[in-house]
Amino acid sequence: MNDCIFCKIVDKEIPAEIVYENEEVVAFNDINPQAPVHVLIIPKKHIPTLNNIVGEQKKLIGEILLVAQKIAREKGIAERGYRTVFNCNADAGQDVFHIHLHLLGGRKMTWPPG
Ligand code: 5GP
Ligand code: ZN
Repeated sequence: MNDCIFCKIVDKEIPAEIVYENEEVVAFNDINPQAPVHVLIIPKKHIPTLNNIVGEQKKLIGEILLVAQKIAREKGIAERGYRTVFNCNADAGQDVFHIHLHLLGGRKMTWPPG
C-alpha cells in the first residue's frame, strides 16, 4: 500500500524509533505517546483493520502479542502492568488503517477507557 504511513515505516521510507523487528513484525515508539511507554507493534503485511484478519493469520496475531510481552519485559513494565489495544474503525478512533497493537505502560491506567 504506497499511501500507508505504516507500510512506509516497514519499508524504511520514513523514519521511526524501531524497538524490535523480525521477519513478520515491526515495533516502534508512537510519535505522540500517551504513556511513558507507548509502542506500536505492526505486521509487515498491510492489513487495514482487525475486521480484515483471516484464520491463516492467527499465528501472526499471536506473534504480535508475544512481541508486546517481550517489549513489556524489556521496558520493565511487565510486572507492574500494561495495556494492549487494537482500535478498530471509527467508534474506536482508529486513525491509521494498517493494524497496530498499542502497548501502553509506565503509568496507572484508568478504566473505562475514554
Ligand atoms: P490509532 O488511532 O489508529 O489506533 O493509532 C494510530 C497511532 O499512530 C497514534 O497513536 C499516532 O500517534 C501514531 N502515529 C501516527 N502517525 C505516526 C508516525 O508517522 N509515526 C509514529 N511513530 N507514530 C505515528
Ligand atoms: Zn500499510
